[in-house]
Amino acid sequence: MKLLLLLLIPVSIIGLLIYPSLEKDSTNEEVTTHPTEVVSPAPKNTTTTGTILPVDIEGLNVHYIDVGQGDCTLIDLGSIEVVIDGGKYNSGAVSYLETSGLVEEPIEYLLATHPDADHIQGLTDILQAFEVEHVGHNGVAKDTLTYTDWWKAVVNEGCSHDVLRRGITLDFESFSLLVVHPFLTTSNYNADSISILLEHEDIVFLLTGDCETESELEMLGSGLLGEVVVLKAGHHGSRTASSWPFIDTLKPEVVVYSCGLGNTYGHPHEEAVENWNAVGASIYGTDVNGTVVVTTDGTNYKVTLAK
Ligand SMILES: [Zn+2]
Repeated sequence: MKLLLLLLIPVSIIGLLIYPSLEKDSTNEEVTTHPTEVVSPAPKNTTTTGTILPVDIEGLNVHYIDVGQGDCTLIDLGSIEVVIDGGKYNSGAVSYLETSGLVEEPIEYLLATHPDADHIQGLTDILQAFEVEHVGHNGVAKDTLTYTDWWKAVVNEGCSHDVLRRGITLDFESFSLLVVHPFLTTSNYNADSISILLEHEDIVFLLTGDCETESELEMLGSGLLGEVVVLKAGHHGSRTASSWPFIDTLKPEVVVYSCGLGNTYGHPHEEAVENWNAVGASIYGTDVNGTVVVTTDGTNYKVTLAK
């Protein structure tokens, strides 16, 4: 069923032009063997289709859902679903979860990186639409109606909820989530974003919410981070994140940033893109690619783009 859904993702016209002999497998996918062989050249922009190989991979799916200017990530493994952030109200998270048919209720874990509207409003929507088993958050309250409504939704759900701090590991069958930030919270909402290292055998993902340079350096100092395969760029691709020491240490093969097309912040910022390019990362953004899905069996991975 899930394979069928993947195949229903719009066909890449560019892929067809470049690889006419692969018409049957011409979904917009980039398949990479890890860690010994990187089959695609480093892109110079954000819309490359890379090399398409007739390799079928099933397993863990990480969906960087297009919610415009915001963040929403679904981690899906069979009947297990973890959602990290939800974008703003009605920004597409609930409709994606409903129409994709991926969610088998309950959603096992809902994680709010920090209480900004572009991260938790959509989680309030999800709590109202789905049964949720557990909520994780950073324990930082915000004096906004958005926060009050979010917390009401958590309480109304009647689920258990925990404050997450650096060093805590959440285990879900074949993958785990290690909290790598924060150790202590501050008065800065972005700096208090929960950052998660997702490990699925050889394939490691990092998601850093809206953490900025200072938090990135703190994470490096913790000694918990090494190279990763997929990085979700901090703070929507802002120049205030993706600092060079951070990117140079992580050396991501794939960078995904999440922001709205034509957003007023100018995300992704050129300085961040330069750093991603400098380590040869393949770069995808929800603004130009729509929802980005990385599928991995723990050894290989492929990237599927909605557009
Ligand atoms: Zn944000």
